[in-house]
Amino acid sequence: MLKTTLAGSLPKPGWLAEEEKLWAGWKLEGQTLEDGKRDATILAIKLQEAAGLDIVGDGEQARAHFVHGFLANLDGIDFGKKTLMGIRNNRYTAEVPTVTGKIRRNGPVHRLEALAARANTAKTLKFTLPGPMTIVDTIADAHYGRREDLAFAFAEVLNEEALELQALGVDVVQFDEPAFNVYMPLVAEWGMAALERAAQGLTCTTAVHICYGYGIKANIEWKGTLGAEWRHYEETFPVIAASKIDQVSLECANSRVPMELIRLLKGKDVLVGCIDVASNRVETPEEVAATIRKAMAFVAPEKLFPCTNCGMAPMAREIAYGKLTALAKGARIVCEELRG
Ligand code: ZN
Repeated sequence: MLKTTLAGSLPKPGWLAEEEKLWAGWKLEGQTLEDGKRDATILAIKLQEAAGLDIVGDGEQARAHFVHGFLANLDGIDFGKKTLMGIRNNRYTAEVPTVTGKIRRNGPVHRLEALAARANTAKTLKFTLPGPMTIVDTIADAHYGRREDLAFAFAEVLNEEALELQALGVDVVQFDEPAFNVYMPLVAEWGMAALERAAQGLTCTTAVHICYGYGIKANIEWKGTLGAEWRHYEETFPVIAASKIDQVSLECANSRVPMELIRLLKGKDVLVGCIDVASNRVETPEEVAATIRKAMAFVAPEKLFPCTNCGMAPMAREIAYGKLTALAKGARIVCEELRG
């Protein structure tokens, strides 16, 4: 019970990529870069184990960005054709690649780091992929026309990749859908259906991560406009509860999300965000324990997985791993209480 895990990304070592940046450039190239990505993945696994996590991940060490890292090995995308686009309903703008033809998977995207991760841990291994709705919200389209058609095209290639990750020994495939907290009516319309298409045929554990974004300035400013209670989850959780997805990862630490919304996820595993990724202050284990206790009013400890609010890619490494250590220690406090 109370198995600890992380939402997804971790900071990369300074020898691999620019530090404390979300869209960090690589510092290596060619085969040296490929070797560096693999080594950083193994290091991230070992550091998560040392921090005391029960379910570890690749830390997204081999991808430049959680969305565009997946797009790198697909046909149908012109990376040279950059389009300036409003993202997450114009919360911020970014220069994004453009879809110019049919989306096809050229071959494995994350095979190398999945193999490296699997070979270097006996713990439950989780791998993250961007969800279809979030991908279409982070790329321009000059081919498909309708956003939902593009989402289903991405869902098909995500499914191919997810099935391969499962075959390589990955235990949990998680789809990241921050866009679910932005376009709530579209989740019921086609977002959830596209996500289920991406997860089709998986027999490993499946998860969806829905958050209020990385701790970057645009997100922090947006959160300031959301009022006293953030109830976005209230619209999407019933849709997710009716889906085949096993686990839901949500943001709870230092957020204005009312904890009782977890009730809407009856039957699901709940990955409770106990670590604020928008603050450099490392939580105390007691603070983590307090968040877990609050969540336990709405979900049984067997179905509660203490987690981070979101990815930690733009943070300083020692802070990120300090937070993971606090997460594991906080969960241990509550476990000991429960054992009496
Ligand atoms: Zn997130």
